[in-house]
Amino acid sequence: MSITTHLSTDEIFGLFRQYVIPNYRRYPVVLVRGEGVEVWDSEGKRYLDLFPGWGCNLLGHCPVPVVTAVQEQLTRLIHVPNTWFTEAQGHWAKALSERSFHGMAFFCNSGAEANEAAIKLTRLHQGPGRYKIIVFEGGFHGRTMGSLSATAQPKYHEGLHPLLPGFSYCPYGDLEAVRQRIDGETAAIMIEPIQGEGGVVLPPNGFLQGLRALADEHQLLLIFDEVQSGCGRTGEWFAYQNFEVVPDIMTLAKALCGGLPGGAMLARKEIAPSLRAGMHASTFGGNPIAAVAGLAAIEMIETQGLLERAKALGNLFLERLRDLAQRCSIVREVRGVGLMIGVELVADGTPVVNECLRRGLLINCTHGTVIRLLPAMTMTDDQVYEGCDILCRVIEEYAQGGLETKVEA
Ligand code: PMP
Repeated sequence: MSITTHLSTDEIFGLFRQYVIPNYRRYPVVLVRGEGVEVWDSEGKRYLDLFPGWGCNLLGHCPVPVVTAVQEQLTRLIHVPNTWFTEAQGHWAKALSERSFHGMAFFCNSGAEANEAAIKLTRLHQGPGRYKIIVFEGGFHGRTMGSLSATAQPKYHEGLHPLLPGFSYCPYGDLEAVRQRIDGETAAIMIEPIQGEGGVVLPPNGFLQGLRALADEHQLLLIFDEVQSGCGRTGEWFAYQNFEVVPDIMTLAKALCGGLPGGAMLARKEIAPSLRAGMHASTFGGNPIAAVAGLAAIEMIETQGLLERAKALGNLFLERLRDLAQRCSIVREVRGVGLMIGVELVADGTPVVNECLRRGLLINCTHGTVIRLLPAMTMTDDQVYEGCDILCRVIEEYAQGGLETKVEA
């Protein structure tokens, strides 16, 4: 007998209650299929997805070029460790290097893992005694102990002390605080050029340039965590390209492989060799499946002109949502770059997310009050209108006190 028989929705919930560690808050929905920006649940209900794959499905669900490349690779070579060369990993590193700052790549499987690599490379490069990394309040860098320690949000630290020492937390946007924090043991500054989890927070004018100048002045490495903002999300290959500042190290994951798991750290050529042979590794990192998926994602973005499309779609969203902000005082601010969009409310955003879910629209709320959209580059204009219509109506009804949906999260 097969161990996977077809179960009812309730029976699937039952499996999770009994066998899956409850470390996630899940909506009571079983998703079974996705195509582009639409997904369907086990009851046949269709949803428009404005938060596909928590930012991983930037190309929509099951993008055809990625699916085709992976299917073809699956029958040839699924996995070989990094004790061997593969052509695909080489091409992938070159493609990423040429689209960023001509550095070298280390491949891994997730954002947290990419940031761990950045932390280790920093220590190895800067040498004994220089280990401190300045990071920013509201930032998010992952859940492993190193990347968690770099995450200056105490709510994620509860019960987990002691953290990895050496991270210095500064207010985001405050250059003077950074300057004062630098001492002889400081090795790097690590930042999301646009904060995601922290509420889609854009850097104040000149802030990233100021960090670059401080890093240069004190021989610090400047690390950009582009796990959420990278890979075309903002309409540029990487968010930093919107601000004309170049980092020494950059970390990537989420959308990197068109929806498949994969992560990478890129480092300037002068720095990269400090991660010497034997000092770091990841068994699955840069495997052939991830590599061909990553290459297919890049090719799809280029052949379909999706960077320009991301900018146009982002403007369409901002136009609609700013129009809402004009007439609806519950909206404090609408902000974003390309397809990284935040709608900050003056109230808890959870009821909005729950009601949108009921009406067939998937969105996210972060930092309590910020409705976050990380839409796919492949949306049509009509899909943007459909999504904005639902979202705007729900927010307006919320403002008028008319939402009653309760969804067990
Ligand atoms: N950095 C940033 C900016 C992120 O948004 C995230 C995930 N939300 C991470 C790191 C961690 O990535 P992962 O969950 O793949 O470890």
